[in-house]
Amino acid sequence: MLIEVGKRCALAGLAQGTSGNLSERNRDGVRITASAASLGSLTAAELVFVTMDGQSTGQRSVKPSSEWQFHRDIYQARPDVHGIVHVHSPFATALACLGKPMPPFHYMIAMTGRAEIPCAPYALFGTAALSSNIVAALGNGYACLLANHGLVAAGRTLEHAFDVALEVEHLAQVYLAAKAAGEPVLLTADQMAEALLRFKTYGAHSAGETGSG
Ligand SMILES: [Zn+2]
Repeated sequence: MLIEVGKRCALAGLAQGTSGNLSERNRDGVRITASAASLGSLTAAELVFVTMDGQSTGQRSVKPSSEWQFHRDIYQARPDVHGIVHVHSPFATALACLGKPMPPFHYMIAMTGRAEIPCAPYALFGTAALSSNIVAALGNGYACLLANHGLVAAGRTLEHAFDVALEVEHLAQVYLAAKAAGEPVLLTADQMAEALLRFKTYGAHSAGETGSG
């Protein structure tokens, strides 16, 4: 599934070159893409198993992504999360460079489990500081922006994480377009609570409009 979702990320324009990384919870550890792997053309040799205490196994020449630590820390903090997508997709990253959360300008933000999408403060990639900023910003939600960096989506499955990343990228594109034209009207706390409840009741996949409504 990592190879398949890597292709989807590249085809959807979420990942360019060797930026971004993916992982899945795997028994007592994490299966993660290798350092400097290109998400669009992953091979089985570029998937690395890392134990929860940070030991990687397999070919010595293949190192896990430098961001393995925040993947591991999210799995430890969130037993419900089984897949993580991290990308530097252009619109979400543009928004992250403003260092602000994405406010409730559209009801689909509720698919991320909260009324707004927080932005984790900047810290150097691959550091414990970045990891703790991400875990704190993610909270109980499924997505957060990373200031001056990109986007993290965490899902019940890797496919769910991909769906969240794709939606957040789309929302960021729409938000920036709306901001360029004027000041977007924000939904109220009550309106977002109603949307959040709908997503909880019907599940993320059916709560979005699927042809009607
Ligand atoms: Zn990154």
